[in-house]
Amino acid sequence: MQSTSSLTDFLQSQLPAALEILRQMVGINSFTGNRDGVNQLARFTAESFAPLGFTAESVPSVNPNYGDHLVLTRRGRSSRSIALVSHLDTVFPPEEEARNNFRWQVEGDLIFGPGTHDIKGGTAMMWLVLQALRVHAPNVFEDLTWKLIWNSSEETLSHDFGDVCRMHFDQGTLAALVFESEGRLGDEKLMVVARKGRGTWRATVTGRGSHAGAKHRHGANAAVQLAHTIQHIAALTDYSRDLTFNVGTVSGGTVLNRVPHEAIAEGEFRAFTPEAYALGKAALLALNGPGEVRSVADRYACEVKVEILTESRPWPRNANTDRLADVWCEVGRELGIPVNVEQRGGLSDGNQIWDVVPTLDGLGPWGDNDHCSERSADGSKLPEFVEISGFVPKAVLNTVAILKLAAQPD
Ligand SMILES: [Zn+2]
Repeated sequence: MQSTSSLTDFLQSQLPAALEILRQMVGINSFTGNRDGVNQLARFTAESFAPLGFTAESVPSVNPNYGDHLVLTRRGRSSRSIALVSHLDTVFPPEEEARNNFRWQVEGDLIFGPGTHDIKGGTAMMWLVLQALRVHAPNVFEDLTWKLIWNSSEETLSHDFGDVCRMHFDQGTLAALVFESEGRLGDEKLMVVARKGRGTWRATVTGRGSHAGAKHRHGANAAVQLAHTIQHIAALTDYSRDLTFNVGTVSGGTVLNRVPHEAIAEGEFRAFTPEAYALGKAALLALNGPGEVRSVADRYACEVKVEILTESRPWPRNANTDRLADVWCEVGRELGIPVNVEQRGGLSDGNQIWDVVPTLDGLGPWGDNDHCSERSADGSKLPEFVEISGFVPKAVLNTVAILKLAAQPD
């Protein structure tokens, strides 16, 4: 490989092209539920990577309302392979983008717009890194097989993407590198080495309705029982275990002159380790059964039903991920770029694949305010943005780290 300064110069020269790709991607609405938009973005993505020698395959989503997943492959001479993972979708419906005038806007060192760092900026980073490898390390570029895999519906945590990855990972896959955005702590770039698992739940209380005037004593008030149940659930949060419960929505009752017969709460819980996750889930499900609220007339008890709606398992700290993170941290020290690791609360596709091949996340550029589209006049609310000046240093770090990884003996 040539020197780092010539690599930096090269990446700097490629940045305008990468940002032009990003600009066009941000211009295509790819809200998860916008099937046509997601598929249009997939076509543009495939076209953008085609000059690098990639061939495209679409894999239909299990959910017919979602667009196709995208797999781009460039076969190498050896049996060694590296997978780069991103996603096509964003959380912003077209109407919301229009309502908030949320679109590509460059302001100083920041670019505002939907998906600028979650995760279209990550896809632009993939393009930059592959360009650098092709020109600066052609032997490595030709030697390895490169698999680029985009989830069409990451923001809805659809589970079929894990199967797509498992089907497409090659035998000799050295790493799956996820291009979600970088973390920052002061000067430090933070790579993601663990993510919380998440379960969503619904608690349904069935009481006994009655006339609030004539037969108050006959009623078993479901809303009052739910208030108790919510307190029990909130008390399951255990910060010492990084286990959190959130009560998200509450509803119940019908009209004011009835003792309500039904009340419902929904929420989620999260944990980093499989042990804490299992503990939280068991404690939650233990709330099933008769509640403490009973009718005065005949001790009729409210019934509490707790069910798990969806589950995404934790991505815990593990040796394979740590080995990859070590490579990035070591390269950071060599290049004078401060690099560290973080465990992140939000989920990514890393949760689905970390135990299939060694997985590292956070390879994307830095930005902030992901999942936000509103801007207030006083600047106290800003929408999602990506930082322009962060692209090249991060691309240098990623490129050199991938070369170090590829140079390691099998
Ligand atoms: Zn994302």
